[in-house]
Amino acid sequence: KGNGAAKSGIPAKVPAVAQPLAEEPAEIASNIRYHAQYSPHFSPFKFEPEQAYYAAAQSVRDRLVQQWNETYLHYHKVDPKQTYYLSMEFLQGRALTNAIGNLDIQGAYADALNKLGHELEEIVEQEKDAALGNGGLGRLASCFLDSMATLNLPAWGYGLRYRYGLFKQRITKAGQEEVAEDWLEKFSPWEIVRHDVVFPVRFFGHVEVLPTGARKWVGGEVLKALAYDVPIPGYKTKNTISLRLWEAKAGAEDFDLFQFNDGQYESAAQLHSRAQQICVVLYPGDATENGKLLRLKQQFFLCSASLQLNAATAACEERKDGTGPRQWSEFPSKVAVQLNDTHPTLAIPELMRLLMDEEGLGWDEAWDVTTRTIAYTNHTVLPEALEKWSQAVMKKLLPRHMEIIEEIDKRFMAMVQSTRPDLESKISSMRILDQNPQKPVVRMANLCVVSGHTVNGVAQLHSDILKAELFADYVSIWPTKFQNKTNGITPRRWLRFCSPELSQIITKWLKTDQWVTNLDLLADLRNFADNADLHAEWESAKMANKQRLADYIFRVTGVNIDPNSLFDIQVKRIHEYKRQLLNILGVVYRYKKLKEMSPEERKSTTSRTIMIGGKAFATYTNAKRIVKLVNDVGAVVNTDPEVNNYLKVVFVPNYNVSVAEMLIPGSELSQHISTAGMEASGTSNMKFALNGCLIIGTLDGANVEIREEIGEENFFLFGATADEVPRLRKERENGLFKPDPRFEEAKQYIRSGAFGSYNYNPLLDSLEGDSGYGRGDYFLVGYDFPSYIESQEKVDEAFKDRKRWIKMSILSTAGSGKFSSDRTISQYAKEIWNIDECRVP
Ligand code: PLP
Repeated sequence: KGNGAAKSGIPAKVPAVAQPLAEEPAEIASNIRYHAQYSPHFSPFKFEPEQAYYAAAQSVRDRLVQQWNETYLHYHKVDPKQTYYLSMEFLQGRALTNAIGNLDIQGAYADALNKLGHELEEIVEQEKDAALGNGGLGRLASCFLDSMATLNLPAWGYGLRYRYGLFKQRITKAGQEEVAEDWLEKFSPWEIVRHDVVFPVRFFGHVEVLPTGARKWVGGEVLKALAYDVPIPGYKTKNTISLRLWEAKAGAEDFDLFQFNDGQYESAAQLHSRAQQICVVLYPGDATENGKLLRLKQQFFLCSASLQLNAATAACEERKDGTGPRQWSEFPSKVAVQLNDTHPTLAIPELMRLLMDEEGLGWDEAWDVTTRTIAYTNHTVLPEALEKWSQAVMKKLLPRHMEIIEEIDKRFMAMVQSTRPDLESKISSMRILDQNPQKPVVRMANLCVVSGHTVNGVAQLHSDILKAELFADYVSIWPTKFQNKTNGITPRRWLRFCSPELSQIITKWLKTDQWVTNLDLLADLRNFADNADLHAEWESAKMANKQRLADYIFRVTGVNIDPNSLFDIQVKRIHEYKRQLLNILGVVYRYKKLKEMSPEERKSTTSRTIMIGGKAFATYTNAKRIVKLVNDVGAVVNTDPEVNNYLKVVFVPNYNVSVAEMLIPGSELSQHISTAGMEASGTSNMKFALNGCLIIGTLDGANVEIREEIGEENFFLFGATADEVPRLRKERENGLFKPDPRFEEAKQYIRSGAFGSYNYNPLLDSLEGDSGYGRGDYFLVGYDFPSYIESQEKVDEAFKDRKRWIKMSILSTAGSGKFSSDRTISQYAKEIWNIDECRVP
């Protein structure tokens, strides 16, 4: 056994803890100046906003590192059980505002920067978003880290250090264009490379049988995983945890100097270039055929490095009570591993391999440890998003893991056959291996369900659907394995820091700022929901946020929007199931009706600014057509002098976390209008509601619970319910669907060329029967269109009644307490991980 203490990054000798850092603005300014001078990354004669940002960030990092060291020394001393949250995605966004906010030194830093001739607001804008994720799933992981730290939980995030994160979206006449996002172009001041935390990760090769009968994976290519740690501070606590991002490397020994000197430059550095490929780019979340092998390599790379680290640490742990080395059976009482979706499923066979082949455990013992360690979160029921890997590819890349998966599958079948003969006819669909001779695959979700001690969905409706449909057969075997953990969002980033105006008002009326860590306290705002003074303050904070948003929209799109109009926003990945098409068809219908009105009639309508934003996956044709359509409709509507006082349509480019932080505080209505049963949870719905924005939505994902919490009278509901959807799809297949004339009118208007000459027929045909392009309106846009339009009419009426609207807005915020990720993470800690608070004194 190696020195686990060194491998885990915990020093063998405990160094003295440094003195607390400066609190006074003048001292902080001097520290910033120090970094500009002595940790320079730029020529010394420049101190523009960019240089000031890097120097300020480095100075904040000093504080984080200090707290961080204290945190890990404390954990080392107490030796608590720890959670490792494995995720292929972390959508962190910017760190500076969040760090100084959580450290509660925002004011001092603003003053310090002032002394140096800069404004904090301008400096924070210099930071590039760390977009190591695609959307909701990745942002959830980042909100969870904030809550884990804030709740003083001993927990880590493990991910990959992608060179290029999610692409940057440019909007041109042709629609969306993707550009690589170089977040590490200069450097990230928030990461610290751990040269002592390095593990070998093997690919390919073969399995050797040793004379003892033990099996060993050998040969192939071996890369190195090197840890980069990003400190994650909790809010107003010393506890500062880590997001550990692995980077792939090849060593000097892999560089063939002989070949290089012979002029064969590429083959001389072959392994280096393979290593580079692994972390070069965030794999797009949506299903594609390309790059499957690389994606599988990425997944294994994350799992192998993370599990080796834990196993290496555990292998050399002595019990704190002096009773000798810990036994492997105690591993699950020290380590919890959470799989964020099936992407890190290979943690299961990798832990089995480490325990059996490296540590010499037998199958039963290894299986017992593995299954008590690992838990799985499901994020989707969409069949195309349920991961399946070709058995042939898996065998080639990970021969030993494939053997282990085959054995798990075999033992699972044997168990079902012997204990549950009634499930005989279900076995082929419950198995981990799909033995379809055309395309034999490994079903990753099945592997997780069979091997994990807990399986959870991410909203009540989604968890119910998992139990009733996707995993129903397993529920009859393991009735207690399945749980719900409704997603949540961090109130720090998503209210306290992104809307200081509204936060201040809330604190004033609640007479405490404790709501920032106890979001249920917001419920007390209900006591003042009719108070005229609160109404006035609430409206003025909202107006300030709307004005800030209007300025931003003008800056990035050149479109002038009126802050007195209703700000109606739909921002999320562009996907047919999320139904941005329903939104834009509604806009087209609204535009046509406005055109048909007299100028007098128009005056009595509610003016609206409709903002739509989101990225379309690069090869998702219909999603890209939707982006183009929104832009084309905007170009016509916004320049039509007859109506543009009553309607504006803006496509917000390059939606990311920082853009969300600008949009959400300024929103009044937001659209969460997915086909019922298809959005597992949604999390931006929670962010909007928390910011006093009303929701128009379907009974889908967390909308159901949001509506319960804030009251049905404060939620604009429409559309089919999840249990009606299968019947409605059948009706359509049987030709029984009669489209509403308003739906036909909107589509026809687009087909007529009212928004330019681009051929939108293929997109619109997808809402109709089999046309060659069409999918028979699988997402039921046509079914829901009439109730959507009618619900929007109710929104228009409600907005005219200011008192009613503001009251609804206050009640939205008041009802959002449940959706704090602090609540979600406390539940994971108690009900899945079995870990306790470990607060740094
Ligand atoms: N993308 C970004 C940048 C986000 O901040 C969020 C959540 O706020 C999402 C995607 C997920 O949005 P939704 O839950 O609406 O799909």
